[in-house]
Amino acid sequence: MAAKAVFLDRDGVINALVYHQEQGIIDSPFTAGQFRLLPGVGEAIRKLREAGYKVVLASNQPGIAKGNFSLEVFGEIRDRMKEALAAAGAFLDGEYYCFHHPEARVEALRVDCPCRKPRPGLLLRASQEMGIDPSRSWMVGDGLTDIKAGKGAGCRTILLGRMKCELCRLMDEEDAHPDAIASNLLTAAQLILNGGG
Ligand SMILES: [Mg+2]
Ligand SMILES: [Zn+2]
Repeated sequence: MAAKAVFLDRDGVINALVYHQEQGIIDSPFTAGQFRLLPGVGEAIRKLREAGYKVVLASNQPGIAKGNFSLEVFGEIRDRMKEALAAAGAFLDGEYYCFHHPEARVEALRVDCPCRKPRPGLLLRASQEMGIDPSRSWMVGDGLTDIKAGKGAGCRTILLGRMKCELCRLMDEEDAHPDAIASNLLTAAQLILNGGG
């Protein structure tokens, strides 16, 4: 039987988003020093893997394309993430990234690609390469783009965020209603383990 997986978005799920005050934006970390593992993430990933789920990162990382950081710095941030997870006893079974952006400053990355969420390409590629059955799997993310990508791939979905109905109109507009909302990854993992099958 094909494997079951929990696909995870990175920024806002594994690590905290960063407020870049000079640019006035909330975005991914631009340096390894800005990487902060969120509470409960190590435990959540450990529990999901113990229950037989592959845990697979599926992340848009357009920061290189936008000129926010270099490929080398991206590698440092990735190393920092893996160190922080390992220190919490947690490991990822796979990592899938989309580095493209339709308005990239870096020409080679200026692509209207099938892998940038909300499109499901990253999840579909991971499923094919890792022998995962999307219908037995979940996508957990903090954005409606994650929910759309998860649904598009045929997964169940959990949105991380606060229970505020500011989101309800957007969910309607985007036709991106998650199966559940949870406040953090550990709560999401418990939802999956308690009824996810
Ligand atoms: Mg995110
Ligand atoms: Zn892409």
